Amino acid sequence: MVVHDIQASSLNDIVFFTMSKSGKVEKIQSIRGMNDLVGREASRWGAWEQTIRRVLKSFHYQEIRTPVLEKTELFVRGVGGESDIVHKEMYTFLDRSEESLTLRPEGTAPVVRALIQHHFHLESGGNRVFYFGPMFRYERPQKGRTRQFTQFGIEFFDDPTPMADAETLILVQTVFNELGVMDYTIHLNSIGDAESRELYTKELKNYLNKHQGDLDEDSRRRIETNPLRVWDSKIESTQEILTGAPKISDFLNKESREHESRLQSLLKAAGVSFEMNPKLVRGLDYYSKTVYEIQGNSPALGSQNALGGGGRYDDLVALLGGKPTPAVGFASSFERLSLAIPDRDEKRRSGAYVAFVGEETSLQDEAIRILGLLWGLGVRATADYTKKSFKSHLKSADRTSSRYALIIGGDELAKKEIQIKDLESGEQVPCPLSSSLRELEEWVQKSDLS
Ligand code: AMP
Repeated sequence: MVVHDIQASSLNDIVFFTMSKSGKVEKIQSIRGMNDLVGREASRWGAWEQTIRRVLKSFHYQEIRTPVLEKTELFVRGVGGESDIVHKEMYTFLDRSEESLTLRPEGTAPVVRALIQHHFHLESGGNRVFYFGPMFRYERPQKGRTRQFTQFGIEFFDDPTPMADAETLILVQTVFNELGVMDYTIHLNSIGDAESRELYTKELKNYLNKHQGDLDEDSRRRIETNPLRVWDSKIESTQEILTGAPKISDFLNKESREHESRLQSLLKAAGVSFEMNPKLVRGLDYYSKTVYEIQGNSPALGSQNALGGGGRYDDLVALLGGKPTPAVGFASSFERLSLAIPDRDEKRRSGAYVAFVGEETSLQDEAIRILGLLWGLGVRATADYTKKSFKSHLKSADRTSSRYALIIGGDELAKKEIQIKDLESGEQVPCPLSSSLRELEEWVQKSDLS
């Protein structure tokens, strides 16, 4: 059933129509390109987030959280009206007071908006921030490309030096190494400062005008509105024309050239390998000087091989109404990383499973008391309260990858003890069950429950 066919006068009507047409309750599916994350994949992502947070902390980055909704003009001004993102991909709507709002398609413009609004870099002394969160782009969904995707990103403000650019790339390399992403190449380019780009844009425009007839429609329009964005075209014939086009690297002014060559030396000094890629311009208007993209080399990535991207954006803060502030940043998505991080299915057992064998409430009392102790001690512990037989409890202990089963049965309870079974070695030992659970606590202290 297609809900937009319904002239629903109220939300209740939608519910009524969707439920009653076929006479049975229809299942509601998630929105195309917006995926649920469950089970193993969800825990993989959780572990990556922890790893990334650890690295970011060691680089002195502080967390920032901004809303998922922003005023539309933030992205039109920040990312650029001629970018694919703004032109074709944003989720934009009028709210109930007719204000145009947009689900954020990227994280940098909102962070810059927050910087201008709160001057947080001055107040907290933190000019390096990171974020995690969902972004939204109406793209054609495929492997590694979704309409809601989860990015982590960093922004480093107030530092115009190439050392700041180098730091972000060292950070990216450290994060990727820690996550186990191995086979990737850092593509680097400079698109120069505003002065260099002005010069270049004129030349590019002349060249493109000569080849107008062979360009796709979007690119033809962009010759006038924003020629640099023609480089973003995915149309093969347009890319062919671009092979003969002037390159931005030949138009860099002295400052931009020096910035770029210094960055290259710094990266070499830090042992970060990279390749210069004169075709790389990145699809967002706010970049200046340094741009980079991390491309995975595995053929399994297909066309979605951009694992992350970033660069310098010295003019964005002023463009959005703040005082001129140099900045550099990077972002990557978990959807892309999940294609590049090897899935080591480590089923390592850890923690304890509490098995109470029987239906007496005294067994339940003991089980919950023991679980309370374990959780209080920070031990990974669980139980399945619906199981009653020893066999079914052992199955649950296996399913939950528990290392030990703590078995409470009627006989054991009468003897004031429990049995502790090591599910790895099969060894089983009794443990006294005093009212203070002191012996169990001692067992926890000396056992490897991690
Ligand atoms: P961009 O802002 O387009 O440079 O994107 C930065 C990074 O976000 C890319 O390198 C990808 O890792 C990721 N990304 C962008 N768009 C998507 C998407 N539709 N689905 C999944 N990841 C994405």
